[in-house]
Amino acid sequence: MGDHCRRLETIMVQGCREREDTTGAISTPIYQSATFRHRGLNKSTGYDYSRSENPTREELEKTIAKLEGGKSGYAFSTGMAAIDAVARLFSPKDHIIVSEDLYGGTYRLFEQVYKKYGVETTYVDTTDIEKVEAVLRKNTKAIFIETPSNPMMRITDIEKITSIARPLEILTIVDNTFLSPYFQRPLLLGADIVIHSGTKFLGGHNDTLSGIIVANKFIEELRFTQVSTGAVLSPFDSWLILRGIKTLSIRVEKQQENAIKISNWLNECKAVKEVFYPGLKNHKGYDISIKQATGFGSMISFNVNEKESIERVLEKLEVIYFAESLGGVESLITYPYTQTHAAIPEDIRNRIGIKDTLLRLSVGIENVEDLIEDLDRALNY
Ligand SMILES: *Cc1c(COP(=O)(O)O)cnc(C)c1O
Repeated sequence: MGDHCRRLETIMVQGCREREDTTGAISTPIYQSATFRHRGLNKSTGYDYSRSENPTREELEKTIAKLEGGKSGYAFSTGMAAIDAVARLFSPKDHIIVSEDLYGGTYRLFEQVYKKYGVETTYVDTTDIEKVEAVLRKNTKAIFIETPSNPMMRITDIEKITSIARPLEILTIVDNTFLSPYFQRPLLLGADIVIHSGTKFLGGHNDTLSGIIVANKFIEELRFTQVSTGAVLSPFDSWLILRGIKTLSIRVEKQQENAIKISNWLNECKAVKEVFYPGLKNHKGYDISIKQATGFGSMISFNVNEKESIERVLEKLEVIYFAESLGGVESLITYPYTQTHAAIPEDIRNRIGIKDTLLRLSVGIENVEDLIEDLDRALNY
């Protein structure tokens, strides 16, 4: 069967495996070598030095490129290092339109690092196409979106964004961390660059940091930046992400199944004011989700009625851990107001809805009754 016939779950399990391996190893070997021997002058094996290329990292990069349906993959030491490499594509006076509701670290990178190098950014609600069009400038070079967004779970219509960006030769960059390529493949909807915090769903076990880029444009430039700045993913961590990806499909299916039950339960819970989960029919982005993704994922945000109860809820939860991060097999809850989104100024947080009553839940693969009982104990004391 031709390789092109293989479906996502098969590629996830088997990886890309383009490299010839004479041993027949089922698991990709960890090439824990900093450098590679040359057989003679101009006789490189194709591998010179692990900052430039490493067989284990290359296997991960090719596998993720295949999963996203893109031309080229790049693995970095963290998600932020991947976003940083994309940000380096821009020059002083370039303008980028950014989803106003997004990971706090991305906001901090643009505002506190790239602003001083002259890269201009405007934050808008990218779910509203008219608002995006209203802030376009002559020097706009990219639209950077997160969908579903972190933490408000807003859904941006990827095709609508690319349809205004393309004719103007503006790049569409999508942070696809929340859904993974199993549920959403932005490049197939016309986006140019996809980013992941591989720390989250791809790794899936809360044990490794990593960042991923898959690109259809600026392929050479991104490779140049990766080699020149050097924040590459180590061979061992590349192997851990490859191993995580093998079970991605069953993990995210189970996480979603649990999340749907929990979001319905939270919706009925008297201590909860409102629930943000794209799989709820009353969610604003429900229809767009159905159109552009094959799943809703397992991230839920919700407001409790009283700010005073936040401390108690976080202390009382036992099965669900109070910790930053998301996407792993363990359920984690965070308080975006002082944790993941503390870097965002108060007025923007208020405008977006990141209130002091908001909690963000990453649903894992535990028994869902245990998770609901835990929430019940903490919320309905
Ligand atoms: C965690 C996260 C990042 C940053 O990734 P790190 O691996 O923590 O550096 C970027 N975007 C989103 C949506 C994230 O959740």
